[in-house]
Amino acid sequence: MKIANEKVVVSLAFTMYNEQGEVLDASEPGVEWTFLMGSQEAPPGLEAALLDRSVGDKFSLTLAPEDGYGVHDPELVQTIDRSDLEIGDEVIEVGMQLEAETDDGWTWVTVREVTDKSITLDPNHELAGQTLKFDIEVVDVREATPEEIEHGHAHSDEESCDEEWIEGEEDFEFDEEDDNDDDVDEIEPGKTK
Ligand code: ZN
Repeated sequence: MKIANEKVVVSLAFTMYNEQGEVLDASEPGVEWTFLMGSQEAPPGLEAALLDRSVGDKFSLTLAPEDGYGVHDPELVQTIDRSDLEIGDEVIEVGMQLEAETDDGWTWVTVREVTDKSITLDPNHELAGQTLKFDIEVVDVREATPEEIEHGHAHSDEESCDEEWIEGEEDFEFDEEDDNDDDVDEIEPGKTK
């Protein structure tokens, strides 16, 4: 079976390298990267390179940022006063990934700089701006189920789909009254963008 857009779930064994040849990520044997084609989980250049391939195909691929995880947009980086952030007593360190609410909804941000008064947050994808090289082996290709196509993501045999995730974004928003250690996830990078 060949890979076609939006109708198949693919499983890939992969190694991802940066431009310097350092390994950034890799699948474990038997634990492949499984996703629905067209779901935008994989970068567009990788999806394009998968079209018409079959199980057993192996190939290498180099993706420029625009075909990978995007160009890094410095204008999205914001420095926020600590007093404007709902971070409680959490220790915020450079390199941490936090969930934050922006005009576009909840998203992951990377902490770039921390001072006594402010925190600099970068909502660009952590791999934005990087040229990436992949070694890929197509391990499995199967037809997507109608449910997977409706949800826009692949389901695994082991876990059932989390219905709450589909209905809204409840999983990404934390109760404001909740005083437990989820506080760090209530960070808010201001209203302007
Ligand atoms: Zn689902």
